Amino acid sequence: MDSGISNEVVEELRGAKAGVDPLRPNLWLHEQEVQAGGEVKSVNTIFLTNRECPFKCTMCDLWRHTLDEPTPKGAIPVQIEFAHNRLPEAEVVKLYNSGNFFDGKAIPRSDYHAIAGLLSEYEHVIVENHPKLIGSFIPEFRDMLRGSFEIAMGLESIHTVVMPKLNKQITRENYRKASEYLVSEGIDVRAFILLNPPFLTDTIENIEWCLKTVEFAFDCGASACSIIPTRDGNGIMEKLREQGEYVPPTLGSFEEVFNRALKLNRGRVFADLWDLEKFSDCSECFEARRQRMEEMNLGQVVLQRVHCECQ
Ligand code: SF4
Ligand SMILES: [Zn+2]
Repeated sequence: MDSGISNEVVEELRGAKAGVDPLRPNLWLHEQEVQAGGEVKSVNTIFLTNRECPFKCTMCDLWRHTLDEPTPKGAIPVQIEFAHNRLPEAEVVKLYNSGNFFDGKAIPRSDYHAIAGLLSEYEHVIVENHPKLIGSFIPEFRDMLRGSFEIAMGLESIHTVVMPKLNKQITRENYRKASEYLVSEGIDVRAFILLNPPFLTDTIENIEWCLKTVEFAFDCGASACSIIPTRDGNGIMEKLREQGEYVPPTLGSFEEVFNRALKLNRGRVFADLWDLEKFSDCSECFEARRQRMEEMNLGQVVLQRVHCECQ
């Protein structure tokens, strides 16, 4: 069935890219995150600069800080060293690349040894990847690492009408197969899941489908789910919003889905708090509510709701 969404449609309304340097990472952060065993560990997250992702998902704005050409060989190790020189030591590292780690034009395969060498101090390594980019190169890279390995994959939404319209070009079965393969290879899986994807506009339905997607990810073997409130800002999302095809989630619905997903007790659930202000319309309670969600990310227990006259 034609979803009406294609790479061309998604790209048509894009603004300009930011100019990026292939020898510099986009960003680097030092954070704390609770691990599968329940202990809280320090995490260095390095956002690598690389060739743009070949998939063009409807809601994605990660292309902004990417290169048009294949990443030059040797550039990724230089970026990791650059970030390491500015970050404290950590037990876990996330290498996020606005795309797929196992896309050879984004992260050249000839750099795997050098990358793994630079990560030898970490006990756990997390990268992101598309469920269709699966092959022998994954266990090969895993075997180069000293620590354990985890792959984060966007499942986004299993809603049957929404899923094809996200232009991610996956089905539930693609995701299940990829996830089960990784688990069979001793690799942990983390799922990225959207709250209020485009083409689903009813608040209750959005909460229910987000939770169904979380459950599906755990059924497929995920050890963690990260819930991302869908944001506009990439061109097509603004158009869909004008057309009534996308409604941003409220902070209240994000809290609700986070509470309920944690209560499922199936594995770790994280709320993505990046740019959270976007979803708040009350400055009185926002900071307390953000802090509560941050504490819930670390503690993995539902805390008492923040009361405010706005609710
Ligand atoms: S696969 Fe990921 S990085 Fe690529 S377009 Fe989709 S959401 Fe963006
Ligand atoms: Zn309030």
